[in-house]
Amino acid sequence: MSSDEKKIPKQFPWIIPFSCEGCGDCVEVCPTGSIELVDLGKKIDKAWITNPETCIGCGKCADACVVGAVQMTSYVEKALKRYREKTSPE
Ligand code: SF4
Ligand code: SF4
Repeated sequence: MSSDEKKIPKQFPWIIPFSCEGCGDCVEVCPTGSIELVDLGKKIDKAWITNPETCIGCGKCADACVVGAVQMTSYVEKALKRYREKTSPE
């Protein structure tokens, strides 16, 4: 399937790196492997949408995050642009 044919999700995860504690719960629940922990060479790794094209916007990552570091946004194009341009949380 080309990216043109891909169904755009109605909502998309918006990660707040400052709030992320690197527990990996969001990574574990993601059915598509779209979210991963990124090693920034610091004490804790931070979650990021490393594969924005495969994210289906299911919201499981946001549900799993106890500290609210992943919020679902309806600004899907803005979120897609964010992760396409920035491949790491820093
Ligand atoms: S569940 Fe939340 S705190 Fe844990 S790694 Fe994911 S975004 Fe970070
Ligand atoms: S919204 Fe669903 S598919 Fe997208 S990163 Fe979160 S858990 Fe994975």
